[in-house]
Amino acid sequence: MTKTIALVAHDARKDALVEWVGRHAGRLVGIMIVATGTTGGRIRDAHGRLSVTTVKSGPLGGDQQIGAMIADGKLDGLIFFVDPLSPMPHDVDIKALLRLAAVYDLPMATSPTTADAVLDYLL
Ligand code: PGA
Repeated sequence: MTKTIALVAHDARKDALVEWVGRHAGRLVGIMIVATGTTGGRIRDAHGRLSVTTVKSGPLGGDQQIGAMIADGKLDGLIFFVDPLSPMPHDVDIKALLRLAAVYDLPMATSPTTADAVLDYLL
């Protein structure tokens, strides 16, 4: 069955997520990707052959939309590159999403190496 994973990157971590997707593009071809607005646009621009559906930008509710998908059982994994070196404007969104991922025991990663492990687990 086709897997669906959510990809979200904050601030200065967007380049790292686009790079991570590029590294795994071959394996991600058959996967449904859901991403927040800006992150998804960056991934689509860089890797046009991937299937990327976007929700709203994170600060406009996109993180909450991803959270709703977790609660509805619509995601198989979450790759969430938070930016640990920026101030904390996304703090409430980060807490909400990490909490839901824990509640539903959703495979989740916050860095390239842990994202590698989640992808290996899922595929
Ligand atoms: P963005 O949203 O991909 O639209 O930047 C991510 C976020 O800020 O949570």
